[in-house]
Amino acid sequence: MKNNNSRRKFIKDSAKVVGGIAGGMALAGVAGTNLNANQTKLDSKNLRALNLQEVSEGKRITSSGFAAFGPKYELKAHSFTRHPVGDNDILIEILYAGICHSDLHTVLGDHGEAKYPMVPGHEIAGVVTAVGKNVSKFKVGDYAGVGCMVNSCGECEMCKNGEQQFCQNAKTVFTYNSNDVFHGGENTMGGYSNNIVLSEKFAIKVPQNAKIERVAPLLCAGVTTFAPIKYSKVKRGQKVAVAGFGGLGHMAVKYMISLGAEVSVFDTTDDKRKAAQKMGVKRYFNVNKPKDFENLSSEFDFIISTIPYKYDINMYQKMLKLDGEMAIVGLPSHADNPSLDGNTTIWNFRRKIYSSLIGGVEITQEMIDYSIANNIYPDVEVIKATSSEINKAYQRVAKGEVQFRYVIDMKTL
Ligand SMILES: [Zn+2]
Ligand SMILES: [Zn+2]
Repeated sequence: MKNNNSRRKFIKDSAKVVGGIAGGMALAGVAGTNLNANQTKLDSKNLRALNLQEVSEGKRITSSGFAAFGPKYELKAHSFTRHPVGDNDILIEILYAGICHSDLHTVLGDHGEAKYPMVPGHEIAGVVTAVGKNVSKFKVGDYAGVGCMVNSCGECEMCKNGEQQFCQNAKTVFTYNSNDVFHGGENTMGGYSNNIVLSEKFAIKVPQNAKIERVAPLLCAGVTTFAPIKYSKVKRGQKVAVAGFGGLGHMAVKYMISLGAEVSVFDTTDDKRKAAQKMGVKRYFNVNKPKDFENLSSEFDFIISTIPYKYDINMYQKMLKLDGEMAIVGLPSHADNPSLDGNTTIWNFRRKIYSSLIGGVEITQEMIDYSIANNIYPDVEVIKATSSEINKAYQRVAKGEVQFRYVIDMKTL
């Protein structure tokens, strides 16, 4: 240890400026790192030290990650900066970031304008390394999660009701590829990176006993399925179905089984039948073998569709019971959105179909607490933070081959 005194001085200064930064966990990594970024390779240890220095000086936060530079699955290493840590903000060192299927669509511009370079990622789990002076929800060393949103107006009816994703003033700031109206309109950058800065209000508390390497996908796949299951009051003894058995679908299965429902699964191949049975799924149907389920009319109390490609929604609607409900949470490209034909709209036995988009901050917190307390986690495959690993993972997600979620270990950056 060459320069113990200056290290101590740095720690002291950081603590003074950001208040409460002197947590053991956050500062552990400072030991032995060179704070002069120009002279060192920006690996995760050096970045952490540099970031704490930037916080103490009120500067923009240097970030290193992976970006798409065009509508292709060819992400490359990319360095950029984030807005400074404000009085109500926290700095999170990202430990794990999930690869959501919608990241693939967003990279290609399927969900609207894509701004490059784009750092995707809205399934984020990490540890708080600095807090602004007004922050009360987090302290340094806490686990924190970030999902699809980082801010909203906070004043409209939707925001006040905890539905920040539907902000009526159109000020929902999504975690990446989104116009941050609260920071000069800069484009937000997501979780395939070493850190993120956001308002404490939009960060989710993650219990310290969580299996942190499996938490990230809960922040999108978890809440996206948990929320409608809750809205539709799925309960013990009901017959329910999950259409599309991928990252979202397998979470829907786990939540509904934990609630005591009898779960059926529809997918396009037989590849995941075994995994489904292991999770407790009662019936597994391959939609390419329609004979296997031609008798399923008025069968289900609830269906959740997580399908991200073109599909026949009328087929599923007919499987709902009287007053049954179907939630649509999968996000196909705009061109492939499902549509109801006229007959199923009128002769539909009061079957209800609704769309559900992620979930507000409150229900996201509820989902995290429920998941950790009930030991419900996604099945993940952890990959290293390299562009070749990430691009390989994209190819496999596109083909529906992953069982069930890739998580990037950002500590290997
Ligand atoms: Zn997502
Ligand atoms: Zn609002």
